[in-house]
Formats: sequence, C-alpha cells, structure tokens
Amino acid sequence: MASQRKGKRKSIQNSDPGKILDLVMSLNDESCAQLQIKINTYLCEECEAELALLVTVNSDRMEASIEAVGTTALQRKHKICMGLKLVDVLKTLQEQTELLSNFPPDFQAIVAPFVPKDNQKRRMMLYPIPDKPFSIIVCVLAPKVQEDHVSIIIHECFLFSWPTLKKTIRFEYECTLKQKCQQLLRVAKRLFTQVASLDTLLQIAMEQAKQLTKAEHCSVMLVDVDRMELVDTSAHWKSTNPAVDEDKERRFPLNKGIAGHVIQTGQLVNAKVAKEHAAFDPNIDGIPGTDCKTILCFPIREQTGIIGVGQLINKVGDPYFDAMDEEMALAFSIYCGVCIIHSVVYQKIQEAHIRNTLANELVMYHMKVGDSEVARMLECTGFHNHPHLSSLHFNPRALPIRELPCYALKMFHDLGFDKKFNIKTTKLARFILYVKKGYRDVPYHSWLHAFNVGQWAYAAISNYKLISQGYFTDLQAMMYVIAGFMHDLDHRGTTNSFHIHGQTTLAALYSSEGSVMERHHLAQAMCILNTEGCDILESLPRRDYDRAIMQLRDYILASDLATYFKNLNEYKAISYDFQKGNRVHTAALQSMLMNAADLSDQLKDWGSVKKTAAAVLTEFFKQGDVEKSRGDLPPIIMDREKCFIPDLEIQFLSTTCVPLFDTLGRILPKAATCVKIIENHIERWDASRPIFSEVPTTAGLSVLLSPELDNLIELNLKEKERLRQEAEAEAHAEPKET
Ligand SMILES: [Zn+2]
Repeated sequence: MASQRKGKRKSIQNSDPGKILDLVMSLNDESCAQLQIKINTYLCEECEAELALLVTVNSDRMEASIEAVGTTALQRKHKICMGLKLVDVLKTLQEQTELLSNFPPDFQAIVAPFVPKDNQKRRMMLYPIPDKPFSIIVCVLAPKVQEDHVSIIIHECFLFSWPTLKKTIRFEYECTLKQKCQQLLRVAKRLFTQVASLDTLLQIAMEQAKQLTKAEHCSVMLVDVDRMELVDTSAHWKSTNPAVDEDKERRFPLNKGIAGHVIQTGQLVNAKVAKEHAAFDPNIDGIPGTDCKTILCFPIREQTGIIGVGQLINKVGDPYFDAMDEEMALAFSIYCGVCIIHSVVYQKIQEAHIRNTLANELVMYHMKVGDSEVARMLECTGFHNHPHLSSLHFNPRALPIRELPCYALKMFHDLGFDKKFNIKTTKLARFILYVKKGYRDVPYHSWLHAFNVGQWAYAAISNYKLISQGYFTDLQAMMYVIAGFMHDLDHRGTTNSFHIHGQTTLAALYSSEGSVMERHHLAQAMCILNTEGCDILESLPRRDYDRAIMQLRDYILASDLATYFKNLNEYKAISYDFQKGNRVHTAALQSMLMNAADLSDQLKDWGSVKKTAAAVLTEFFKQGDVEKSRGDLPPIIMDREKCFIPDLEIQFLSTTCVPLFDTLGRILPKAATCVKIIENHIERWDASRPIFSEVPTTAGLSVLLSPELDNLIELNLKEKERLRQEAEAEAHAEPKET
C-alpha cells in the first residue's frame, strides 16, 4: 500500500497535492461551464497566466465549441471553426504555441473581450487532452511559468479533474439530445394535425425545421415524378420576393445543385462552406437575395423512396450546422415524409368521400319520396283487410301490388309498434315507400320478396306469440319486422360469390368482412334510416336506438345462408335446451327466425312454390349467363344448360329448409308443422322428375311454367300411391301364406 501511494504521489510531484485535492473536491457543479471556470482559475493561478480556457472538440467530426473563458461563463455555447492549429494539436498530440492574433477570427472574437487590446500579440499555449467522443484543448495565455512546467501542471490537473468534466460533458450532450427529441416529437404532433392541407403542412414543417436547427432559412422541395423536376412552393420565398409572380413555383432539374446531389445519392450534405461544395448551384441552393454561407440539405423519404429534400440555410449564431443538427434533420425528415404522404392520401380519401357523397345524393334524389306520394298512400281507399294477412302460409301474390305498402303499414299498426315507439304515421309511410324504392326490378330479390319476408315476420310474431310468451321484447320484435322489409335492399340479383369472383366494387368494399351483399343491404338500410323524414327510430331513447341498430345488423347479416350453415350445429344444440332470456339462445332464435322468414316461400301452396322457383331460377340463370360471358364456369345451379330443376329443389328443401324448421320446431312447437309442408313439396318435386327428364335440360324453365305440369305430377303421385298400396297389400298378404 505504502509503495503504491508513493508511486501515485510521484505523478503529481510538480503540483501541490493539497491544491489539486481542493480543486477536485470543488468540482461538484452540474454545469460544464462552472466546472471549466474552476479548472481555468486553477490553471491561471498555477501557471501564472493571463487567461485560461478550454475548447471542447467532438473528436470524430472536429467540431469545436467554447462555453467559458477564464472566470466567465459565456451566454451560450459558441461553435468555432477549428483552424489548422487546433486540428494539428489534436492530430499530433503535441502541445504548441501560437500568437493569439494568428487564431481564426471567430476564436479571437470570443476571447478578445477578456484580453487587454495590447495583449493581442501574446502567445497562447495549446495542450491536448485526447479522448472519445470528446477531447479538450487547453489554452493558456502568456504563462509566466516555464512552458515545460505548464505542460506538467496541465497534465497533472487533468489526471484528476478530467473524469468529472468528461462525464459532465457527456451528460449535457445527452440532455440536449433529449430536449431536442422532445421538441421533435412536439413538432411531429403538430405536423400530424395538419395533414388536411399540404401547403399548410409544408409551411409549418419549414418553420419547425428552422426552429429546431436555428437556421436562417428553410425550404422543402418535392419531387415531381411526372416532369422529373424539383418543385419549391415555399410561401416564404414568395413573400420575400413580391416581384415574383405569386402563383409561379420554383422548378429545377432533378440532377442540379446540392439538392439534386442529395436526391441522387440519398445522402445528407452538410456543407460548412456552401460555395466550396462541388455541386453548389446558387440558383437552386439557397433563397434568392440571400448570401448562402452554410447549407444542410437532407432527403425526405417515404417507403417508396425519396419524395423531396429539405434545405436549411445559414446557422444563426454559429459558423456551421453540427452533428446534432444533422441528427435532427434526419429524424425530422422521416416525420416530414410520413406527414406528406399522409396528407396526399388524406386528400385522395377526402376527394373519394366527396364523390361518394355526391353519388349518394344523386341516388337519394332519384329515390326521393314526395309528400304527395305519402299522402296518396295514406288516402288509399283500398280494402287493406285481407283475412289471411297474419297467416304463416299467406301468399302476398293475392294482394294488389300497389297496396303492399298499405299492408306493410297495417302490420306495424296491428302490432302496436307505432304507438309503443312513438312513430308518426306519415314518417312510417314515407319509410315504407323509401324501402320499396330501394329494391331493384330483379326476378326474385325484389320488393315483393321483401314484403313476403316482412309479412312472415309479422305473422310469426302473432302466431308464435313471440312477445307475449317472452321470447322477444317489443323492440326485438319490431326490428325483426323492419329487418324483414330491409334485408335485401338494392339486391342486384347476384350472389356473394359472383361479386367476389367478379371483383366488383361491392366485393372491394366488403369482401374482407364476408357476407358482401348482406353488408351492402345493411349499409342501404342505414342510409334510409338516416334520411330525414324516414328516421323511424329517431324518437327511441339513445340506448334503445343503439340496441335497435345492433339488432338490425344481426338480423340482416344472419340472412346470409353461409352464416346459417356455419351456425346450424350450434342452433341444433341450443334447440334441445332453449332458455328464454338467455342472450346467446335469443340471438340464435332471432337468426333462425330471420332465415325462416327469408325461406318462408316454401311454406306456401304448391302453385306459389312453383312461381318462386321460376323467379329464383330466372335470376340464377341470368347470373350464370353473365359468368359464362366473362369466361367463368358458373355453378351447375346457375347454368341453364346443366341445371336439373327437381334435383336442385329437392336438395335445397331437404338440406336447407327441413333442418331449419325442424330445429325451430323444437323451440317453437307450432313451427314443427312447417316440416310436413316442406316434405309434401319434396314429394311433388320428386314426382316431377320423370316429367323434367323427358325434355332437354334447357327446357326446364318452360316445363316449370307449363299448365300441364301439375296434372302430370298428380298422375305420377296417384301412380306412386297405387304402387305403395299394392306393396302394402302384398306385405299384409305374405304373412298369411307362411
Ligand atoms: Zn331475402
């Protein structure tokens, strides 16, 4: 221990250990400038010099700064040009001496106020303290102590004081960086709120970049890919040059100037002396009428590449832009690029939105239901009292088509929805007329189908006593009827897969979510419900309104048969243990009742069933024709040359309708009778098979519509029955023989 201590002492043999200890103990300030003042004072006294100061150097980049001279802290940290002498001291690691008057002007300007004028000829001793990332050059002016001795004093002083000073320099650098980053984030936040206008965005971006780096000017130039030019639309440039035409932008070729160089290399350029840079072009780099001394030019990027450049011109207060400015510029350019692209996309979306609104307005204008139309409907003197309207097997074809809206109105009235939910009759009437207009003139999915479904929902609520038996609330029941009327709005007579394979606009909008058409029907429904004068849900309390919309959504989406098949097993399981009031069970019942209403055509008389089949097949075959014309192979059921109608119907009834009403019948026992009706239809289709087989497949539709068909089916059925009875008789006879 003793020898070690002795060895250390040896290293400070030329200094007073007590004084060094005092100095080190006093280095407890947080600021670099204050630490430097203490070191300067010590050096001044020990070397008997007129002045001491420390130059901090970023070792990698040879960027130097001074923040304290002698016992004075400067108001801010000053960047200085290193000059050959200072660079040499650090490169050779040799102390050197130089006349103060030979130092670069900015160094002299900083030191001058602290030195009497006649002392400018004094010699300054320079001593290097090399380190990474910061080095120090100790400057001592006119020491009276011998120069060899001065070196030792400085060496011994820094042996003990450098660790503290070094850490403080690092700490202050990190603090500044943190501060700048926070500034940058605030700037980014501001930029992101300005995406609505590209001009305002660029203006703010330039203003912020200027503030971040303390630049005199800033401009952002964007690449015009079509014309291979750089465009500077900077408002600043315009405002300072009133002589220039306001609308005229500055445009430059892409390969000229420092800006062009940055575009081509993708690299930032920090030209500390702009005019000395090989690519400098006074027409492009800089602002007209401004002396361009230093330039920091950086690329603005976006995922696809460089979309522009930012130019910062002339650092305020300092001779050049430093490493931290470069960091700021690069980080800034990333935010800037993201904001510019967002702004461009935002504007495209805005345009699309406006176009869409215009298109909607046009549609709603042509759909418009005038007051006179509503009045005419309300004044209709028709019978409106068909005795079977509330039957589950009622055939709406029995009603005059122009009176269907009146009957729809009657259903709401019968169920008391208008009173319960405070819906004015005129509003309800207008709503119904809008819904009617929302359907297209397609063979099957027309207003007549919508009326059918609405009517069956109405009949189910009455016949199955859905409200009074506690299956549904009033709101759930009303939304069931409303969904029935609205569930196929704007149907184009084509299936979901037709839209997906044909990559139609509707598929582009909805295919990612599935149920393409159903989502469109829902969107159309919302459109009508949001139209003034038809907003029948408007007087519902907020929570009920939200519930109603969710119900409508669930009902309409449930009408997609793909969803039905996906959930059928779950429905079956629930049907064995149905609990009223259980949310999941109620939702399943709602979905099934929606499908039941949608398929309720199959619960009607045979004549009606045939008409429905003809309408559906006409629609299917039309789609098949379109698919063939676009070079696709249509599914067999859509191909008029391949579809064997009885098989298609039997398949549909037995795999889709029977399981549905079978399952439903376990929850609502009255619904079980529907299965019998469907089985009857299956039997008839089966009996029609030989008749359809006798003609070419392409004649299927004509057979279906021919008046002969029913008689032939009757004959076949009778024949079948006769054979069955014979077989039965034989079966009875057989046991007697044995
Ligand atoms: Zn439907």
